[in-house]
Amino acid sequence: MKLSDLKTGEAGYIIKVSGHGGFRKRIMEMGFVKGQRVEVLLNAPLKDPIKYRLMGYEVSLRRDEASMIEVLFEPGDTSEAIRANPTSASSRTRKLEKLVTRRRKRIEIALVGNPNSGKSSLYNALTGGHEHVGNYGGVTVGAKKGTFRHGDYEFVVYDLPGTYALSAYTPEELFVRRHLTEKIPDVVVNVVAAGNLERNLYLTTELIDISQDMVIALNMYDELERSGARLDVDALGTLLGTPVVPVVARCGRGLDELLDTIAEVYEGRNATVRHIHINHGSAIEEAVGELRKAMAPDFDCFPKHFSRRYLILRFLERDPDVEKLLSSACPHYGEWVPVRDREAAKVSKSLGEDMETAITDEKYGFIAGALKETLVPGKQERISTTGAIDAIVTHRLWGFPIFFFLMWLMFELTFKVGQYPMDWIEHGVEWLSGLMERVMPAGPLHDLLANGVIGGVGSVIVFLPNILILFLCISFMEDSGYMARAAFIMDKVMHRIGLHGKSFIPLVMGFGCNVPGIMAARSIESPSSRIITVLISPFISCSARLPIYILLTGAFFPSHASLVLIAVYLTGIAVAALTALAMRKIMFKRDDTPFVMELPPYRLPTLRTTLRHGWDKGKQYLRKMGGVILAASIVVWVLSYYPREAPHSWLERIGIAAEPVMRPLGIPWEGSVALVAGVGAKEVTVSTLGVLYTGSGDGSESESLSRRLVAPDPATGTPDWTPAAALAFMVFALLYFPCLAALAAIRKETGSWRWVALSVVYNTLVAWFVAWLVYVVGNILL
Ligand code: GDP
Ligand code: MG
Repeated sequence: MKLSDLKTGEAGYIIKVSGHGGFRKRIMEMGFVKGQRVEVLLNAPLKDPIKYRLMGYEVSLRRDEASMIEVLFEPGDTSEAIRANPTSASSRTRKLEKLVTRRRKRIEIALVGNPNSGKSSLYNALTGGHEHVGNYGGVTVGAKKGTFRHGDYEFVVYDLPGTYALSAYTPEELFVRRHLTEKIPDVVVNVVAAGNLERNLYLTTELIDISQDMVIALNMYDELERSGARLDVDALGTLLGTPVVPVVARCGRGLDELLDTIAEVYEGRNATVRHIHINHGSAIEEAVGELRKAMAPDFDCFPKHFSRRYLILRFLERDPDVEKLLSSACPHYGEWVPVRDREAAKVSKSLGEDMETAITDEKYGFIAGALKETLVPGKQERISTTGAIDAIVTHRLWGFPIFFFLMWLMFELTFKVGQYPMDWIEHGVEWLSGLMERVMPAGPLHDLLANGVIGGVGSVIVFLPNILILFLCISFMEDSGYMARAAFIMDKVMHRIGLHGKSFIPLVMGFGCNVPGIMAARSIESPSSRIITVLISPFISCSARLPIYILLTGAFFPSHASLVLIAVYLTGIAVAALTALAMRKIMFKRDDTPFVMELPPYRLPTLRTTLRHGWDKGKQYLRKMGGVILAASIVVWVLSYYPREAPHSWLERIGIAAEPVMRPLGIPWEGSVALVAGVGAKEVTVSTLGVLYTGSGDGSESESLSRRLVAPDPATGTPDWTPAAALAFMVFALLYFPCLAALAAIRKETGSWRWVALSVVYNTLVAWFVAWLVYVVGNILL
């Protein structure tokens, strides 16, 4: 009997709470736990919510919530009888309690698994029945039900038809899904054939999405052992958040352990049980996020037996059954359809395949990742293309050289190939400022355009090709699936600094721009790892800082440019690693929760999608150029141009004020000003130097900025910069104050200004200290 069926004044004992994990947790936290007595205070037909008394408190539940709770009806005369005759009544209550206990000790399980995974064999072994066992599909039509006892418990078991998935395509799939929705088994027993884990675990991922209590019966374990394969069963269970019990249904091996485990899960006493999210990749997760936002007002009326996440994913896939379910339960359903269509179109455009295929691919990626960590395949395993490539690129020894080679290739492409268009743009900028020189009369407007706008924006725009190429490379690695492998081989290294392989992708993306990198940290399940990844991201040198290095290495280390560049990048990585270690030591305790690293199938990204991803980033960059950088260049120009009659411009005064702080680093006042200006966006650092070093007044406007930096200052007769100071400047620019966009992203992903403040203060202090060290050592060596 359902709790919602009890009438006003009646009482009952809770036998079980059904529904998906999140719902059940909330309901149980309210006190609706097995064996508890509930009294109905007010249950008016057609009226929501219903009022109950429980443990002496009044609580109200929505009708559909109450219908997920099963109760044992307490005959109405009991409470009066207690009052009238306490002794005889107490024996009645005892009887009732016994009844409740007995009902509580009844566990309903459902065998769910692929055809031929041995469900019927397991069913027979458990019930002692003689269900027909066959080696072909479709033997079990409908469900068989049996009962048996084990220990204190009475088990009711259903043998369901075999399915590969839980979509609504075949009658079998529909049947299983209906069973899970309507009968709501206490524990789902997912029968998995050990000989074909990859395909069998697909259904498991769907069951994980549903989020009902589950145990995996790893059947045909004898075959796995015979094949010579080795599987770390416990590790697999931990990764899946679901206990895995090896069994051999044919000879009854492992059945006691299976049943004990089921009982543990039923009683909520199993330590392996953990709700996990299968990460479907950023494109799909973003779509899920958008839908979640649109649906949030209606979450109360969502069906309770499956998790919201499952329903959202299914809705994204246009599952007709789920569409029907949601449309009948939720008043705002109509508003979601356009959101869904828009998001699904976005996903298929960005991944180049339809939603269903994309989700399937990601699920197989999850399985591949989980098995890669736990399974050593037997000899006769046939090898797929993906497996063959993985065997090489994730190899214990070769994996790293391949990874470093690809990284080297990426930077080589960025700088060597980028040099050509860079030269063209540089010539264009010079030509333009030369033209300006000739056609415009001297005066503030001329100066503003020549020095402020062209000097500032022009000095940044020349780096657009480098940045585009870097973004193209990163998009290509991500889209092809290589990035996930890189994360995989980096897992051990990342563990050394207290993080997980998953933190690696956000960090690599940070080489392009820290902002998408910080946002990509969202896919990291562990909160402490996520926060650490977000906070160390700004130390990863983004492409906006690249112009600074290119400018200064070109000026001061023309023959060792690559070496210096690599050293700067490595400095950033080292500071990131040390910071991560320190944060793990000081702020967070070690977190060893294991997570599956998805290994999606390799795809050859089409030229179109790669170009589009690259162009999206390029567009953002151009927009930034037209906005922040232009505005900042003009502000910097104004500050450097005015006041006309005073000996020092405002900008000089800022620089002079910063002088005492920056002098130990050898950085001239122009450098300090550039760094202050670079707080908004790091590109502005170079454009500010561009503005500051154009007004030398000797008519050499068309001379490139790097030549002007090494030239002697007309006022002092010696160059402003020494090579050691240039190094210190690069390091300072690398490490200090994250740009405003990055700070906004940090705030969004960590949800707190505290981390933003920490980031600003800590990074700037570290920057000063490391730059000082570099300057001191540089002065000795150079
Ligand atoms: P169902 O389709 O999931 O109900 O699978 P069945 O129970 O009909 O079993 C399919 C085939 O697998 C039968 O030939 C069984 O004999 C065989 N089988 C079932 N369990 C085991 C096992 O633990 N080990 C081995 N080697 N074979 C098994
Ligand atoms: Mg069968």
